[in-house]
Amino acid sequence: MKRVFIGLLVVAALVLGGAYAVRGKIAFKIMERRLATAMANPVIPSLPDGLHVAVCGAGGPFPDHDRGGPCTAVIAGKRMYVVDTGEAAGRTMGRMGLFGGDFVVLLTHLHSDHIDGLGNVALQRWGGGALTTPLRLHGPAGVERVAAGFTEAYALDSTYRTAHHGPTIMPPSAAGIKAHGFVFPEGQDSVVVLEEDGVKITAFKVNHGPIDPAVGYRFDYKGRSVVISGDTAPSPVVAKYAKGVDLLVHEALSPTLVNLIREASLKSGNAKRAQIMQDIQNYHTTPWAAAAIARDDKVGALLLNHVIPPLPLKALEGPFLGDARTVYTGPLWIARDGDLISLPVGDRTITRSSLLH
Ligand SMILES: [Zn+2]
Ligand SMILES: [Zn+2]
Repeated sequence: MKRVFIGLLVVAALVLGGAYAVRGKIAFKIMERRLATAMANPVIPSLPDGLHVAVCGAGGPFPDHDRGGPCTAVIAGKRMYVVDTGEAAGRTMGRMGLFGGDFVVLLTHLHSDHIDGLGNVALQRWGGGALTTPLRLHGPAGVERVAAGFTEAYALDSTYRTAHHGPTIMPPSAAGIKAHGFVFPEGQDSVVVLEEDGVKITAFKVNHGPIDPAVGYRFDYKGRSVVISGDTAPSPVVAKYAKGVDLLVHEALSPTLVNLIREASLKSGNAKRAQIMQDIQNYHTTPWAAAAIARDDKVGALLLNHVIPPLPLKALEGPFLGDARTVYTGPLWIARDGDLISLPVGDRTITRSSLLH
């Protein structure tokens, strides 16, 4: 009897082991096929001519399982511009298939949550494409210090990469970051930062005091337009540059939910955290105030990003939005990592899909 039982156990183990082996083989085949498909169809060349917004980080500075630090890639034709590189930006861009060619990074301001991921983004760019020049970084005053700091922090790593893969694969000339700071002309609230291949990028001043300068960006390409607010309290300058745009990407903080964290902090005796939860509210914008700008500016769609606080339950989206959907009745989305909002040239359509699902 005992021998039969042991025999059955052995058979069960073999069957289970066989099943695992088969599952492993199937998974291996699926991966092989997915890799071939992904490599044969790089994302950017496969997009129709137009403006596309790819969300490579929809969150703010809070630890957030679902949303990385601020990162919004704008693809105009075949060129890509990455606005802010928060924590996990490089990983998420990689998962979205956004590396492989050259691109430019633009910073809205120099708060840590907007630059945390810059080193890795520069490294992934260097390793991902056949490039001979460093990453171009545009931003307001102070951006030179940020570029120099990251370049120095990665200086040793850069020598290791070149030593290991050789200077043809990893040319030292393409390592690091080259800063291009901009200033606003006297008395002006905006400045054209770049104009190339039909793409015009305008930086405008926003209200994120005491952080000064802090800017938002407007992208114009072949009749389509996107405005990215950057971090700001409700600002007439954002409203001025967002008038009639196809897509407004606006930051959003819910005081209702942040006050919940504040009260929990007070109850648990953490007065410092409670004070920070109080302080952050005056230099951000509520979802309903962003909706009012979208309504008054008659924008085509509103995408709320820099989502504060994290929304660990989908059902929290209602309390987060408050009455924003009543205020603005056009398409309104809470940004998620992987989102792709497409504005093709030649018509007025705005579609949302995902590069992660
Ligand atoms: Zn921020
Ligand atoms: Zn900020």
